[in-house]
Amino acid sequence: MSTFKAPKGTYDLIPPDSATYLAVREAIAAPLRNSGYGYIETPGFENVELFARGVGESTDIVTKEMYAFETKGGDRLALRPEGTASVLRAALEANLHKAGNLPVKLWYSGSYYRYERPQKGRYRHFSQVGAEAIGAEDPALDAELIILADQAYRSLGLRNFRILLNSLGDQECRPVYRTALQDFLRGLDLDEDTLRRSEINPLRVLDDKRDAVQKQLVGAPLLRDYLCDACKTYHEEVRELITAAGVSFEDDPKLVRGLDYYTRTTFEFVHDGLGSQSAVGGGGRYDGLSEMIGGPALPSVGWALGVDRTVLALEAEGVELSLPASTSVFAVPLGEEARRVLFGKVTELRKAGVAADFSFGGKGLKGAMKNANRSGARYTIVAGERDLAEGVVQLKDMESGEQMAIGVNEVVAELESRLG
Ligand code: ATP
Ligand code: MG
Repeated sequence: MSTFKAPKGTYDLIPPDSATYLAVREAIAAPLRNSGYGYIETPGFENVELFARGVGESTDIVTKEMYAFETKGGDRLALRPEGTASVLRAALEANLHKAGNLPVKLWYSGSYYRYERPQKGRYRHFSQVGAEAIGAEDPALDAELIILADQAYRSLGLRNFRILLNSLGDQECRPVYRTALQDFLRGLDLDEDTLRRSEINPLRVLDDKRDAVQKQLVGAPLLRDYLCDACKTYHEEVRELITAAGVSFEDDPKLVRGLDYYTRTTFEFVHDGLGSQSAVGGGGRYDGLSEMIGGPALPSVGWALGVDRTVLALEAEGVELSLPASTSVFAVPLGEEARRVLFGKVTELRKAGVAADFSFGGKGLKGAMKNANRSGARYTIVAGERDLAEGVVQLKDMESGEQMAIGVNEVVAELESRLG
C-alpha cells in the first residue's frame, strides 16, 4: 500500500465493481438518448458567481458545501456542486436557445463536488446523470422527464423507489404563501440559524431534516392551498400525464428542494432501502433561473439522478445487473513461438470486434489458466510447440469443458461465428 489514500469523502471505482457504475450511468442515459436529448459536457469548475446566483446564496450548497478557490491568476472559481447552472450557462453562451428549436433538450453525466459530512451515500465527490429541457413551458415536458427517470430505474430492475411530487407555485402565488409560512415560522421555537433562514428562504425550513424541527412543522400552511389557478391547472395536467403513462407517484405537499431556483413542478425519487440518504434523484421546473444568470426568460425543467446512491439502491434490493463478461476469448501461449502466434491471433480477434485478452508475463499453464478463468472468457485458445508444428491451436469451451484442435488459420473465423 502506498502512503496515500483517497481523500476523505471520496472513493475509487475499481474493477469489477466499476462495471456496475458504468452500467448504471448508461442505463440512466439510455432513455434520454432515445428521447431527443443531446449530450453536453461542461467544465468541472465555473466562475463561483454562477453558482452563487444560479443555485442561491442562502442554500447549503453555496454557503457550506462549495469548493471555492482563487486561482493564481486571481479568478474566483468553484468546483461544480451540481449540473443545472453550468448546463444553462453553456446553452446560453452557445445561443442554443436562438436556434429556433425549443425546447433545447440536453443530458450530461459527470462528477460533482460538495464539502459535506461524509456518510454512506453522501460523499464529497459523487456522480450524477442529468437532463435539462430548456425553453418551454409545457406540462408534457415535466411529465416526460419524470417518466424517463422512472423508466431508467425500472430498466435497472429497481422496484422499491417512490416518486414524490409537488408544485412550488410561481411568481404570482408563491410570495403570498411565503408570507403566510413566515408568519407561522415566527411563532415556533427555532434556533437562530433556522430563524434567519425563515427570513431569507422560509420554504427551505420545510426541508429541515431534524426531528425537533419537523415536529413543529406539523400544522404549517401548505403551498397546495395557495396555488394560483394557472399553477393548479398546470400541476393537474402533469399529474394526469404521468398517471396515464402508468407511473405511480405520491403527492408530497411538503416537498421543497435545496436549490432556490425551482418553480412549479418539483419531484424527488426516494429509495426505501437507503436509510437517511434516501434521495436517489430529484428535479423540477426552474422558470426563473435563466434570468437569474443574466439570460432571457427561458422556462425549463430538469432532473439529476445520483449514480452512487442508485448503485447502493441496487445493492439494497439485491439486484445483480447481468453484465456481459468483458472478455470473450483468452489466449494462453506455451513457449516463445506460441507467444508470437497467439498475440497475433488476439490482435486479429480484437480487430474483428471480439473481446480478447492474452496471458502476459510468461506464466506457466496453470497460472495462465487461472487468469483465463478469472477473465470470464467463454473460450480459451492454448498452443504449445507441438500444436504449432501440426498447424493447430487448442480451442477450449470454458462452459462445457470441451476441447478441440483447430487450424491456426481457421481459429479466428471459428470464434467469430461461435460468438456471433
Ligand atoms: P440530499 O437532500 O440528500 O442532500 P440534494 O437535494 O442535495 O440531496 P440534489 O442536489 O438534488 O441532492 O442532487 C441530486 C442527486 O444527487 C441526489 O438525489 C443524490 O442522489 C445525489 N447526491 C447529491 N449530493 C450527494 C452527495 N454528497 N453524495 C452522493 N450523492 C449525492
Ligand atoms: Mg444536499
